[in-house]
Amino acid sequence: MAGEGEWPAIGIDLGTTYSCVAVWQNDRVEIIVNDQGNRTTPSYVAFTDKERLVGDAAKNQVARNPTNSIFDAKRLIGRRFSDSLVQNDINFWPFKVIEGHADKPMIMVTYKDEEKHFAAEEISSMVLKKMREIAEAYLGTIVKNIVVTVPAYFNDSQRKATKDAGGIAGLNVMRIINEPTAAAIAYGLDKANIGRKNVLIFDLGGGTTDVSLLTIDDGTFEVKAVAGDTHLGGEDFDNRMVKHFVEIFKRQHKEDISGNAKALRRLRTACERAKRILSSATETTIEVDSLYKGIDFSSCITRARFAELNMDLFKKSIELVEKSLIDAKMDKRGVHDVVLTGGSSRIPKVQQLLQDFFDGKQLNMSINPDEAVAYGAAVQAANLVGMGNEKVQHIVLLDVTPLSLGVSADGGWMSVVIPRNTIIPTKMEENYTTRFDNQTSVLFPVYEGERVKVVDNNWLGEFRLSPIPAAPKGAADIKVCFEIDANGILSVSAVEKTTGVSYKITITNYKASPSTEEIHRMVEDAEKYEVEDDEHRKKVRAKEALENYAYKMRSIVNDKEIGDKLDAPGKEKIEAAIKHVIHWLDGIQHADVDEFEDKLIGLELICNPIIAKISRQE
Ligand code: AMP
Repeated sequence: MAGEGEWPAIGIDLGTTYSCVAVWQNDRVEIIVNDQGNRTTPSYVAFTDKERLVGDAAKNQVARNPTNSIFDAKRLIGRRFSDSLVQNDINFWPFKVIEGHADKPMIMVTYKDEEKHFAAEEISSMVLKKMREIAEAYLGTIVKNIVVTVPAYFNDSQRKATKDAGGIAGLNVMRIINEPTAAAIAYGLDKANIGRKNVLIFDLGGGTTDVSLLTIDDGTFEVKAVAGDTHLGGEDFDNRMVKHFVEIFKRQHKEDISGNAKALRRLRTACERAKRILSSATETTIEVDSLYKGIDFSSCITRARFAELNMDLFKKSIELVEKSLIDAKMDKRGVHDVVLTGGSSRIPKVQQLLQDFFDGKQLNMSINPDEAVAYGAAVQAANLVGMGNEKVQHIVLLDVTPLSLGVSADGGWMSVVIPRNTIIPTKMEENYTTRFDNQTSVLFPVYEGERVKVVDNNWLGEFRLSPIPAAPKGAADIKVCFEIDANGILSVSAVEKTTGVSYKITITNYKASPSTEEIHRMVEDAEKYEVEDDEHRKKVRAKEALENYAYKMRSIVNDKEIGDKLDAPGKEKIEAAIKHVIHWLDGIQHADVDEFEDKLIGLELICNPIIAKISRQE
């Protein structure tokens, strides 16, 4: 079967806090471990005065470099700077986000002592590139084709920006699929020949909660409804625990650590660890040495206490389940299966609340919650390149529009063309006319949202149909067509029927969305950073080679057996040369690869002949 690309094709779950990559190989999905041996990789990018770091390396140095360590790019991607969600998030991030051209949020960092501005899609492209490298190291071959997942509620602009991130990383994004759909694919695979079933996907991640209701029928996945909270997840549970221990510390030591960022960070790390432990143990102890003013902190927490601290948040996540059922007009008894995904769905109390809501129904936890989405994405990737086995070949994906789409009609009312929860891909048409006599052009502002007045909805873009023949108002006959492709990307066209004058736009949502030139520039930048990273790696390797050689020589001359065989002048010569090199290494701030290599050659020219002489004597 001919595919859209070539193997290897990988699936990437590009998460808010963590990302995961998987591949279809040997007739099954394999989750790929990163260079640290982890199956998920932090979606972090950090900039230092020397280098750019991505993944675990970036997350590990956050405490030292908070303003230049970027995370949560997924919260910014495809959004406007003035978006109230963006404005709210900005208050909580240690890094700076400024207003770029045409309301585009730009992340500001200092990299190699220079101020740099990055769009969210550039940061995401760096994470995608890292995930690709992880896959390439594992597969031992170049990877070009990917399937990336996005939350079901992502609008057109966010999907397009995610696709752009792949493009900037030099990847071919074969398909963007919804995260719950991907999780459901993984689930569907486990249960072949299940007949028609309604499945609720409960995704409780690090920063977000997403609930999706799907109908699975003979390999077909139809999203019936989605509900979510973009600020409800594991990090909120960590924060509650941090707050709790700040109070305990205050009580125990009469000291308030809440103003000390470093102490809070160390406490948060310990809390996150404790939270994970509490998913399998009923009690654990937090221990942080010298937490504040030299005071060691140690305190116990039970699973029950942790649950109590977060009960309102846990309940909020269950309310989303209720909301999705109401939206889909489905009784909870109509749900055949409940599937858990997202790392935080491992919390026993959450599982219990969910199980109680579904009157004791057995929850489906057979899919590893951190990996289910990447798993499904890998299956879809295999499918698109004609791989996979019989079980995956017949899967057809049907997603729905999370929000209604339409145009602004008379008086600023929302005139819906594609209603919410319509299965995509789709194409729908509506007829419009002019509002004034002799009107020769009509403006079509496109919106998404459920509110009746467009000012309350999300403006996606607009275009003007012109010229149209002057006529009394209401005489023009204009057909407007909304079309959404399999990636969820929207194009809108309009045609005036008598003259055939038409106009078509692919909604890039807002003017701040990158133009082709901008993407081109970002691709070039990404390549430039790649070259710089490469140079840095080379430099580090050259320095290491010089250091290793110098230390090796020092241990040789100091070795009783070998060192004693050297004649005194030879030994002195080597010692002096080593001393000189180590002194130079200790003193330098910056040096080029060439300088390290020259020093190494110089040292080898002195040492090797002298060492070779004793080898010959032997
Ligand atoms: P995700 O975004 O789906 O990778 O989820 C990451 C979130 O899951 C983080 O907040 C983690 O702290 C949380 N998490 C991972 N494992 C566990 C666990 N065993 N118990 C509770 N939370 C967990």
